Amino acid sequence: MIMDLIIIGAGPAGITASVYASRKKMNFLVITKDIGGQAAWSSDVENYPGYQFITGPDLVEKFQEHLQKYGIQVRENEEAVELEKKDKIIYIKTTKEVYEAKTAIIAAGKRVKEIGVPGEKEYKNKGVAYCVTCDGLLFAEKDVAVVGGGNSALDAAIQMMHIANKVYLINITDAFMGDSIMQEKVKNNPKVKILHNTRVESIIGDKFVKGINIDTQGRKETLNVKGIFIEIGLMPNSWFAKGLDKNEKNEIKVNCANETNVPGIFAAGDVTSVPEKQIVIAAGDGAKAALGAFRYLARLK
Ligand SMILES: Cc1cc2nc3c(=O)[nH]c(=O)nc-3n(C[C@H](O)[C@H](O)[C@H](O)COP(=O)(O)OP(=O)(O)OC[C@H]3O[C@@H](n4cnc5c(N)ncnc54)[C@H](O)[C@@H]3O)c2cc1C
Repeated sequence: MIMDLIIIGAGPAGITASVYASRKKMNFLVITKDIGGQAAWSSDVENYPGYQFITGPDLVEKFQEHLQKYGIQVRENEEAVELEKKDKIIYIKTTKEVYEAKTAIIAAGKRVKEIGVPGEKEYKNKGVAYCVTCDGLLFAEKDVAVVGGGNSALDAAIQMMHIANKVYLINITDAFMGDSIMQEKVKNNPKVKILHNTRVESIIGDKFVKGINIDTQGRKETLNVKGIFIEIGLMPNSWFAKGLDKNEKNEIKVNCANETNVPGIFAAGDVTSVPEKQIVIAAGDGAKAALGAFRYLARLK
């Protein structure tokens, strides 16, 4: 059966798109690796209207309740591996099936970047981690390092300063790039040692991580840490989309109506060229994309 719409991803963008598609009574499916996306990784969300403070996981629970209210079926643990439009039909190949649709919304967000130093791959899930919200508790009362200088790294350090014994915050440049409120929180906490102008050289260990070798402007040092959180940014999950225009960051180019260069294919949220990456922006994009898909289908009829 050819669906009206297939939504890829169930982060804030995909979830909002699915609520709008449901309210328009569209015949649609949501295919996703997980529910919540990056929103589930945030400890403190203080800028989503209606909530002065909510944790990421609690906000995702609210999103899930919203999906349930509309009876939206989500195909979870399924990954899109190819998307292409041929002869007016959009083919979406996943890890489980091939689907056909008249319209698609790519809301696949972003994934973590690796630093690419010796030991990183070897010790992944053996002390090297990429999500504090998911893995932080594994390092309770231990010494850890957080690598990065943007909002993700600051958020990770803030979470870990309540869990770990000591937090080394390793930043390659001479200043943080994240929000000043978050910077103040880490600067004022005695558990956090900030290391600016510092490069990671390698990660060492035996069965599990035992330390991290760093270089601060020529001064080499080994920090004895049990956990290392790599928080150096994110890459868009756009690799599976064929025939779409992308920018130099591999983000899918969209116009202000969230249309891509291929008619009927829309993109929303962090996977797009829209400049700011926030929950409220992704949600707004998802709403626009679903309404755009609805209008596109109406024009086809
Ligand atoms: C640590 C951290 C803290 C943050 N804190 C805040 C904050 O306080 N306030 C704020 O507004 N924003 C915050 N953000 C940013 C915010 O989380 C993102 O902008 C937002 O989640 C983007 O939503 P999205 O739906 O576009 O993408 P994502 O949230 O990345 O969701 C993408 C979805 O697509 C799925 N997916 C990916 N690839 C595929 C595939 N090939 N096939 C099927 N499914 C796929 C994923 O499983 C996921 O469900 C934070 C981000 C991070 C990392």
